[in-house]
Amino acid sequence: MKQGIHPEYKKAIVKCACGNTFETGSVVDEIKVEICSECHPFFTGKQKFIDKGGRVDRFKKKYGM
Ligand SMILES: [Zn+2]
Repeated sequence: MKQGIHPEYKKAIVKCACGNTFETGSVVDEIKVEICSECHPFFTGKQKFIDKGGRVDRFKKKYGM
């Protein structure tokens, strides 16, 4: 996914519940999340969003997503 190609795709500020903010590309200005890569060990561990079938599914159930 490359940024800056589509005219409506701009820089968005992601604000996490932990207080961390970071920039990403989106069509909206601001995104609020409850968990980010800075505050949840799932994201900082060995695996990231590679195993979409197992771990992420359990992760989503745990947090009611
Ligand atoms: Zn966070």
